[in-house]
Amino acid sequence: MKITIDTSKCAGCSICQHIAPTLFYMNGYHAEISQKMLDQLQTDEILQFKLQEVLDTCPAGAITVTEDVDNGSATPTDQ
Ligand code: SF4
Repeated sequence: MKITIDTSKCAGCSICQHIAPTLFYMNGYHAEISQKMLDQLQTDEILQFKLQEVLDTCPAGAITVTEDVDNGSATPTDQ
């Protein structure tokens, strides 16, 4: 999972930090993601819930979440 914040969109409201302070922090006038928390996010359901709340709440739509993609390791199926 990768989380990115478009700093050109971020309004600096700090709502994300208030909802999920272990995931988001303010760096001047824009938010940043705590990369060290991404591993914990994979297994922590409360953190996942908070992330979803942030995504639903961010007034600027500045946060993007992308899942890791399995790039070609799958094998074709036999018939
Ligand atoms: S909630 Fe959105 S607009 Fe507000 S600081 Fe966080 S990323 Fe920026």
